[in-house]
Amino acid sequence: MRASRARTVEMCDDLECSLCSNLLFEPVTTPCGHSFCRDCFARTQDHSNKCPLCRTVRGRARARAWG
Ligand SMILES: [Zn+2]
Ligand SMILES: [Zn+2]
Repeated sequence: MRASRARTVEMCDDLECSLCSNLLFEPVTTPCGHSFCRDCFARTQDHSNKCPLCRTVRGRARARAWG
């Protein structure tokens, strides 16, 4: 359990997934610049086409970039 999270999610490299709080596993990066585990992200896309972090809607033109 992580009681305090002083780090910001904006840091590059050594990223952790905002959804499961573990290091990124098979990371995917969204067009809005956020990274998630492939599985975590796929789960959110079952019921939404938005970035789970900033709610940017996935655009048709960039759909390929989302894996
Ligand atoms: Zn994850
Ligand atoms: Zn985002």
